[in-house]
Formats: sequence, C-alpha cells, structure tokens
Amino acid sequence: MRLDQLHPDVSSFETTVAGEKEQAGYWVALDETYFYPESGGQPADRGTLNGQQVLDVQQDGGIVWHKLEKALSGKVKGEIDRTTRVDHAAQHTAQHVISAILQDEFSIPTVSFRTGSAESTLDIDCPHWTEELEVRLMRRLREVIRENLPVTTRDYPEEEALALPLRKAPQVTGTIRVVQIGELDYSACGGSHLKSTAALGLVLLTGVEKVRGNVRLSYVAGERAYTLLDRERSALVAASRLLSSKKEEVPDAILALKQEVATLEGQVDILREQRVEQDVSRLMNEESVIQLHHANEDVAYSERLAKRLADAGKIALVWNEAALKLFVAGDSQLHLGKWAKANLSAFDGRGGGNERMAQAVFPSKEQGWSCASTWREELVK
Ligand SMILES: [Zn+2]
Repeated sequence: MRLDQLHPDVSSFETTVAGEKEQAGYWVALDETYFYPESGGQPADRGTLNGQQVLDVQQDGGIVWHKLEKALSGKVKGEIDRTTRVDHAAQHTAQHVISAILQDEFSIPTVSFRTGSAESTLDIDCPHWTEELEVRLMRRLREVIRENLPVTTRDYPEEEALALPLRKAPQVTGTIRVVQIGELDYSACGGSHLKSTAALGLVLLTGVEKVRGNVRLSYVAGERAYTLLDRERSALVAASRLLSSKKEEVPDAILALKQEVATLEGQVDILREQRVEQDVSRLMNEESVIQLHHANEDVAYSERLAKRLADAGKIALVWNEAALKLFVAGDSQLHLGKWAKANLSAFDGRGGGNERMAQAVFPSKEQGWSCASTWREELVK
C-alpha cells in the first residue's frame, strides 16, 4: 500500500534518495514518499524535494519516481503542495459523485474520465444529452453536496470487495481499496479524495460535446468552480454596464444591438451603392485607365467601385490606403490575376485574382501606391 494512500494528510516528510535514473529527464526514487503518482486519470502531486520543484511523479513496477531538474542525493525533505492535492481531489471526488448520479438515476454509465489542468472531463455512454437531464443532474448534485456524505476509504479482501455494490468491476486482485461515498457510491479506486461531499462546495458543468459516439461532459469543482464563477460574473457585470442593461437582460440587449447593426448594414449597403453609381457616372469622361487613391474609405467601397468601373468599360486601379489594398479591374489583353501575381515581388506585395479582377496587399503605403502608378503606365500601353 502506498503511503500517500495510507496517510493522505501528510504533506511534509523526511527520507533519503534510494535510486536515480535518466529517462526523458532526471528522476529519483525515495526510501519513503507521500507523493501521489499520476494514475487512473488523476494527475500527480506537485511540491518540492529539498526545495526543488517536483515536475512529475510516476509509478513503475511498484517504485514511485519523482522528476526533477537537477540531481539529488542523500537526505531529503519533501513538501507536498496541499492546494494542488486538494484541487485534484475535488475534481476527482466530483467525478465519483457525477458518475454515481448518472448511473443510479439515468442508467448512464461512465466510459472514461480525466482530470485536466483547467477542466475535467467525463465521457458517458448516452445517445442523447438533453437540457432536462442537465437540470436534473445539477439539482441532485447540489443535494448530494448539502447532504455532506462522508468519503471513506477501506481495504477489503477481494471476496468481500466483490460482495459490495461496486460501480465497476475492479482492475486489481488481492486486497482491494474501496472508496465509499455515503450510500451513493462504492468504487474500487486508488485516487485521492476529499473527506466529504460538502467539501466540494460547488460543481459547475462547463461544456457538453459529442466525442466518438459518447457524450463528453466538462466540469470544474471546488475552488476552480468558484474562480470560474467569479470570472464569468465579472464579465457579465462589465457587459451589463456597457449595454446599460440589467444583468439578466444582457442577452436581450445584445440581440437588440445585433438587429440594429443588421439594419444599419443594410442601409450602408444601399448608400454605398448609390455613391458608387454617382462616382461611376462622374468618371465616365476620364481616360480609359483610371487610378484612384482612397485615403480613408471603407474597403468594400473601393472594391465595389473598381468592379463597377470595369463593368462600365474602364480599367480601374483603386488604392485603399487604410487597408493597404489595391484593386485592379477591367477588360484588357491580360489575365489580370496572373499578371498581378507575376508583377508584385518588386513592391513586396501579395495577391492574385481572376481574369478581370485582381487584388493585392502591401507592407507600406508607398509600395502600394508606387505599384498602382507603375501598373497604370503598363496598362495604358
Ligand atoms: Zn476515486
């Protein structure tokens, strides 16, 4: 039995280095360790050995290895980071509770789970996840937290363990470590856990997605959930201030704003079109190749004007300085797209297009305008 499992409350200990190895980094084994090695979807403990950060902890054939930056020997003082331990235990205990509720109340089995550094995930065998299921799961979850069910761990001889209502068949034989949460859950498990369901405090579902035929639920528990809640609440408060609306009315205010934007965009399209037509008639008396400089115009206007001038029989070079973009359009002997592409490198431009319309972007105002002027001379010929 590992010491981290026998004495989960020990976070400071003294021991000596028992072995070392090089394997994608430097690792030490200790005479005794209370560090939790990564296993069963739960990440390893963090902490220090003689002040050095423990980067990873892995178990290999009964030996627990600690990954370090630098070599270590002799007497060692180990310190386990309690905040990380409790955080991992919270995510993992929440997984037991969610899996038990899903199994008992909805007959939905858990396929796999993973404790992540931001979110944890639970893959469940469920063809259709619904909002109603989510509401019922969360309601029951809150009840279980309020009920303050004790989380206890005991070793059982295999026969006795198998007589318990275990949620899943154990993967080990011999002595089996069983984690019990009130009467809600009996699981053969080697992970680290909180002492009661009340210690979870808060569990939030953060996402639902389909993954390889299963449903993947993402969630956060404990301090992570409170931190997330604070962050999301701050965002909501900021949004409600910006929109001058009550917090619960933020979605309606955004919807109204989006509708207003759509209406205005429609009006802008109409005005742009009118302006383009006026420009086209004004420019009809100009030479057949027209070079225009737009200093602060909307890029859609420049593009549209180039196209409409081409439709009216001109060859147009419209330079939009704000976007550093040049539009060339018209009927000429050339395939404009190919021609533009072949003649851009001298001006550090990038672009291309089709037979009668090309566009290019440039790193500077000077290069773009100089390109437009050079091309104009070429196209006049
Ligand atoms: Zn567990």
